[in-house]
Order: sequence, then C-alpha cells, then structure tokens
Amino acid sequence: MKFSGCYRWSRLILIILSFALGAVSVWATDDVIALKAHRLFDGRSKSLVPNGVVIVQGNKIIDVGSNLGIPGDARVIDLGDATLAPGFMDAHTHLTLDYSSDYNVRRLNELDLNVSEQAIIATTHARSTVEAGFTTVRDLGSRFVGSREFVDVALRNSINKGVVVGPRMLVATKGIGATGGHFDPTSGFRDFLFGREPDYTDGIVDSPDDARKAVRFEVKNGADVIKAAVSGGVLSLVDEVDTPQLTPAEMAALVDESHRLRKKVAVHCHGDEAAREAIEAGVDSIEHGSFMKPETLTRMKNKGVFLTPTLMASEWIMHKLENYPPALQAKAKAATLARSDMFRNAVKIGVKISFGTDAAVFPHGQNAREFKLMVDLGMQPIEALRSATANNAELLGIAQKTGTLEKGKLADIIAMPGDPSADITATEQVFFVMKEGKIIRNGPPSVHVGAEETGPAKTAAPVD
Ligand SMILES: [Zn+2]
Repeated sequence: MKFSGCYRWSRLILIILSFALGAVSVWATDDVIALKAHRLFDGRSKSLVPNGVVIVQGNKIIDVGSNLGIPGDARVIDLGDATLAPGFMDAHTHLTLDYSSDYNVRRLNELDLNVSEQAIIATTHARSTVEAGFTTVRDLGSRFVGSREFVDVALRNSINKGVVVGPRMLVATKGIGATGGHFDPTSGFRDFLFGREPDYTDGIVDSPDDARKAVRFEVKNGADVIKAAVSGGVLSLVDEVDTPQLTPAEMAALVDESHRLRKKVAVHCHGDEAAREAIEAGVDSIEHGSFMKPETLTRMKNKGVFLTPTLMASEWIMHKLENYPPALQAKAKAATLARSDMFRNAVKIGVKISFGTDAAVFPHGQNAREFKLMVDLGMQPIEALRSATANNAELLGIAQKTGTLEKGKLADIIAMPGDPSADITATEQVFFVMKEGKIIRNGPPSVHVGAEETGPAKTAAPVD
C-alpha cells in the first residue's frame, strides 16, 4: 500500500512536471523534428522559398529546403500559412535595465532598487525578448551606479546553463566613456554624492592608457564585446548630443586593445565628427549615428563598418516626449530629425546595416517593431530581415554557428504568420521559437509583453 501510494504520488508529480515543462520549453533530445511552413527565409537569400522544411536533430539543423522529403521517424510540426526564419538577433539591447515610462522614476529606481532585485527583474526581460523571436542579443552596457556587480555576465551565464530562459547573449559589461560624458554614471548628480569620481573600473577613462586598462578589466570580468561612447547622447543630462567625447588617441588605444583580445568594438555615437574619428580608429559598428553625413557614411561603407540605427529608441522617446526633462526633449528632437535622413542615405549608399533597437528605452519584447521603421525609411523588407539574421551574425562574429538556416548550424528557428516580405509587421507576430533545438514557444507567449505600454500607434506617421 505504502509503495503504491508513493508510486501514485510520484506519477502525479511527473505528470505535473511534464505539464509545467510543456508550458515552458521542451528540452532538446536527439529525436528528429521536421518543421514545415508555407514559406521559408534562410537568412541570406534575396527571396523566400515556398513549402519550407527544416529538419532538426538535437541542437542542430540537419537539412533545410523547399519541398524536402521528411524522414519517417521525424516528429512533424506543421506551422501552416507561416514563414520559417532564422532566430532574429538584436545587436543593441540592455536586458539588465528596466524600462520605466518616466525618466525620473527610472533614474530613482536605478538608485533605489537592490542590484539583486534588478537582476531578478532582468530575467523577465530575457524571457520576453526570446519569446518575441530574438534568439541572440548583443547586450551593449549594464551599469548600476555604486555597484561592482556584472549583472549582464551573470544573466548570460545563467541562460547558457539553462537556469533562465532567454536569448544567447554577447555582453559588453560597462560602457567605456569620458569623465562627464554619456556613460559617466555620476553626471547630473551633486558633486561627490557617490563618494568618489568614477574610474576605469566604472568604465570611465581619460587617457589612452586608461582606455586600455578599462578594456582589459572588462574582458577579465567576462565581456564578449567592448562598448564605448565617443559622442554625447540623448538620455544623458549634462552633455551635448553630438560633441566628441573620446580623443582619437583614446579611441585608437581602446580599439587596438580590444582587437588584440579578439573582441569587437561597438560605439555609441550621434555626432559626425566623432563618427569620422571612430571609423578611422577601426571600430566595428556605430550605434545610432544620427548626425552622420553622406561622406562619413561612404567612408563607413568602404571600411566595412556596420551601422546599428536603433530607430525604435528615438521613435519611442518622440512619442513620450513629455516624460523627459526639457534638455533631453531638445536633444531627442534634433537627433530624431537628423537620423531619418541619415538612415535613408545609409541605405542608398549601401552601408552594412545591423538590426538593433536599444531595448530598455522601450519595454523589452517589442524589438521587432524596428523592422517597420526601417522599411518606412526606404529599406527593402528582405534587407531588413537580413540585417537581423545574416548581417548580425557577421557583426557579432558568430556566423559560423548561427544566423542562417543551413545544414550544420544551430537550430535557432522562428515562425511568423503570413509573408514578412509582403507585410513586414508579420515580424511582430512571431508565434514559434526554437533555440538550439529546444522549443521555447509554440503559440501564445507565457507573459503578456508590454501589456500596458504599447507606445506609438502602429499606424502613426513616421516621426521625421
Ligand atoms: Zn544603448
């Protein structure tokens, strides 16, 4: 009796567990799964193919194509009138930062909340992001004033261990910048409120040697990529948006040290002068780039430097302008006005474009809304899709293992309804997500993403 009671209980627990796991994720086994849909985008081609099939075994794609034969032992998942695509990548997120619709509330929260609590909140951002179809992110900066914690490194490692559900993360730790610049965490506060001036351990540098030391310190602590602010920014209180903030010598040292350690460099930059200097210094991508002139964009194209436009960030700020202090409102207006022309020029000139949003400036999980903004400003839908897949895999240095649907690549696969090359907003309706062979979502998301914060109406006219 005792035994059978115990057996019944353990069976019940098993059933409950399998339901719970079913709702969250189905772990990869070596079983063969065949995904079918009416269309397929492989990540690099110029068009979609009909009757797409992807065959997955374990964590890899073992075959992919149009009208493929399906192995007899495969579990077939037919997604119907949908498009299969590689998992999207966002090259500019801040998963560890919490969104708040009010600038000052956010600023106070960052000082108020325990860093452990912020780390726990960040796990929900990771889940919203991957459930929206973003299986990889380049997370460009995580900083908690007065804290020594590397929350982005901890989040990345927890996701890699399977403890937290989220996208593959390449993390930058603390953005590197100048005293009083966009990344100075004490700017705008009373002098010495935090007890000391920030230094290289906070990412703040004032010489080439400092820049080198900061890079070494960040790589030592787990950075996959280096982020620096070479010009002012919109959401910083005491700088002008387009002034240069690191000298050419500081940039050269920073890029040299990063590349020696085989890390790429992404720079926050709105101003044209700072962009020209950063391109000469050899950076790998320019983030935002609002005021870049056509000549600068041509130089970028010739040197193969990527532009990560983050249109979503300025779009969001412009539609919530009253939530920001007056000084920031003026900077946002100027940057947004300039960035639309800059982006159109970049597309015309043929600069390599990497899809990136600046998620945290808007609620996490709404990343795909960037696609429509890109298309509205002149990019072909298929090029926008490539920017979030093959282009980003190239920029992130992970093209060998993911970014396209190809034999031997990791099984990072998503599906969206209809045809995104005909209606790009299909990207906002991703309903199936597989990461490394594990099904994270097949149907409605587990959380209601940004339920109260839907931001600018989808039919709104472009901001410019
Ligand atoms: Zn950012």
